[in-house]
Amino acid sequence: MTDHCGKTTDLPLHADEAEGLLRSVLKPLLFASSDDFHHLKTIKSIEPFMRSFVSKASVLFPGGACAGLLASFKAQMDGFDSCDDEARTTRLKNAIEIIDRLMKALPGVLPVVSDDSANKPQNLKASIAALGTPVERVKGVGPKLGEMLRRKGISTVEDLLYFVPARYEDRSSLKRIKELVTGESASVSGEILAMGEVRYGRRKVYEIVVGSEGQMLKLKWFHYRESYMKLRFKAGQRLIIYGTVSAYGAQKEIIHPDIETLDDSADAAVTEGIVPVYSQVETIHPKTMRKIMKNCVDAYAGYALGAVSESVIKSYGLMTVYSAFKEAHLPTGEGMAELARKSLAFDELFILETGLAIKRQGVRKEPGIEFRPDGTLEVRLRALFPYKLTGAQERVLAEIKADMTSAHPMNRLVQGDVGSGKTIVSLIAALSAVESGYQAAIMAPTEILAEQHYLTIHSYAESLGIRASLLTASVKTAARKSALALIKNGEVDLIVGTHALIQKDVEFKRLGLAVVDEQHRFGVVQRASLKKKGFGPAPDMLIMTATPIPRTLSMTVFGDLEVSIIDELPPGRKPIYTKVIRESERQKAYEVIRKELKEGHQCYIVYPLVDESEELSLKDATTMKEHLQKDVFADSRLGLLHGRLSGPEKEQVMRDFKERRLDILVATTVLEVGVDVPNASVILIEHAERFGLAQLHQLRGRVGRGERRSICLLLAQWSNSDDTLKRLKVMEATNDGFKIAEEDLLIRGPGDFLGTRQSGLPEFRSASLLTDLSLLKNARHEAMILLAKDPGLNHDGSLFLRHLLNARWADRLELAEIG
Ligand code: ADP
Ligand code: MG
Repeated sequence: MTDHCGKTTDLPLHADEAEGLLRSVLKPLLFASSDDFHHLKTIKSIEPFMRSFVSKASVLFPGGACAGLLASFKAQMDGFDSCDDEARTTRLKNAIEIIDRLMKALPGVLPVVSDDSANKPQNLKASIAALGTPVERVKGVGPKLGEMLRRKGISTVEDLLYFVPARYEDRSSLKRIKELVTGESASVSGEILAMGEVRYGRRKVYEIVVGSEGQMLKLKWFHYRESYMKLRFKAGQRLIIYGTVSAYGAQKEIIHPDIETLDDSADAAVTEGIVPVYSQVETIHPKTMRKIMKNCVDAYAGYALGAVSESVIKSYGLMTVYSAFKEAHLPTGEGMAELARKSLAFDELFILETGLAIKRQGVRKEPGIEFRPDGTLEVRLRALFPYKLTGAQERVLAEIKADMTSAHPMNRLVQGDVGSGKTIVSLIAALSAVESGYQAAIMAPTEILAEQHYLTIHSYAESLGIRASLLTASVKTAARKSALALIKNGEVDLIVGTHALIQKDVEFKRLGLAVVDEQHRFGVVQRASLKKKGFGPAPDMLIMTATPIPRTLSMTVFGDLEVSIIDELPPGRKPIYTKVIRESERQKAYEVIRKELKEGHQCYIVYPLVDESEELSLKDATTMKEHLQKDVFADSRLGLLHGRLSGPEKEQVMRDFKERRLDILVATTVLEVGVDVPNASVILIEHAERFGLAQLHQLRGRVGRGERRSICLLLAQWSNSDDTLKRLKVMEATNDGFKIAEEDLLIRGPGDFLGTRQSGLPEFRSASLLTDLSLLKNARHEAMILLAKDPGLNHDGSLFLRHLLNARWADRLELAEIG
């Protein structure tokens, strides 16, 4: 391999070590350059650090052009600290460029080439016009097929190019009938020997028998139209058949196969070698689809717009978007199609990551509030709080304070597993705001939770001489009116509430900090509405979640937020013993509950929310509560909690449970978030199979909050054929919210994982949030490097990127038009 340094011998001797060293120096450089060089001012002295880097690096990069690069790096850094801002900006850009080149010269990474010259204004215009061509104009499409494609969401040439094959068939390795193995999917060819409708008892089945080399294979359809079958297939026709092989006695067969007919020899051209198979668009024949695609690629792929520069593409061993479209639709060899997909995915992810970085940059440029708390309230609160904060709580708190005392608005997501102690952290943050003369608002997703927060906060606030108030939907007329007036006049400091906080008539005098608790229950819009309640400067936002968010999602959906993680539980917490049980073990479960109750502990029994409607679960919970009270736990006191209760009713039930006037709380999923009763030691979840894992984890987190080793029983129904049991077993295996979230994401996919309330999920055409984590990390890295060099995306090389960013993400990310 040769690299831009010239000879192979220039390569550093210890690549891993070299990479680590380069990354260690890149980090502060990127920090200094981030937000359009905003942080440059905060950096006082980096020369000593850079000198020590250069001396270490000169050992690892001995001689050759790499040493030359290192020398010019040194030149950028010599005297850096005493330069003015402008010179420092230029030097910083150069320095980052040099380090990036050195990184790309490391083994395993391909050589850096000069930037592409294709990225020119005149090309941009032509490209946009070509890619926007209506799909009907592609050769072979026309009005009729055009309609069908449009119904599938494909209306332009660009849409068509991104309609990549669902799979590929290697026709050069077509199986022979005798080679077929039951249970495996395969492609096979044969000639139609006989066909027609056959009766099996009452059931009608359409069958085609194909043969080759004296072997026979049966194809069967249970759903078909006879007229269509007769029209499509003729005896003597040659077929290419794809499907899963099964056996009926000794006869091999394929049920509902994918079929392609080979009518004439001309077809051989498009049906040999590796053949793309598109997901079916209405009645468009697979062969027609392939021809259309070939025409489209031939005529238009050359106009494809890629956002990533050629040098970056090469450094990751990927293809240009142009080649990727060609290889995706007409692969020239093994592995090319996957490489093409990855290349398209990288391009998509890079655009998104650039947009997110720009958004973070924009947020930080908004005028914010520099809080100046003197810390007395915090000291007094800590004295009242019965525990010492954990190391993780302290660390996250320090991150929050750093944001709050800086001039730009905070936009921070705190992730902490259930029970990790997020409330106290947010409360200390709120006190800092109050002490600095601002109001703080805490928004929770349910009344129960808001009321619980309010109770906790209220008791502290009183001792600290702070005015707190509660605003929920069940705070009615007169009380609401006076609360609104207090908030507007600045006569309360700390306001706890639900969605009621973002109603139109709520006005704050000086909102400084907005906390959103259990953010997964809110949508992006609601977060934004709370933020808009500021009085001028944007309030600091602190967003908390107990649903651990897998990396791919936090880097995309929440990519505009800084992330803090409370990755430690308060001491003494024991893992919750979890068991999946069947209906037949119900009595045993009741025994377990009785035993816990006897020892003075309390219990939850939970019913699922079905289809977002509470009707059914309400019925379940209500009837079961009566039954349990009468027939099972006659000596215990049972309470019922569900969403239809009024605010005060709910509060009453919760308080009764908290203060041990109830032994068992029968509840719907309103229990899910935040409820905190340390004496509860067992939770029984009915119909556990209907819950997502993340939600089960949340529910389970209602116990295990005290000293006692707690128990979670998941009562479920499953059959051997589904994967319910396997899924629920994850709960038995781990108490780690992150692991559970990753599993849940894999099982349910990103959309369901985030739930319908989250509208922030980006739609990708090639990238997958399940498998592309490393592509995503690289895309993020490259986006940051690019913005360091070209913060306003003004260079010619950023032209396509800017266009694509505006076209694809500007609305979604609420970016003001770029450029
Ligand atoms: P979550 O992160 O799920 O919102 P909470 O803030 O409700 O967790 O805290 C869970 C429980 O842990 C509460 O009873 C709280 O008082 C307690 N707690 C919080 N921090 C600590 C700590 N550092 N040490 C011991 N207990 C703590
Ligand atoms: Mg909480």
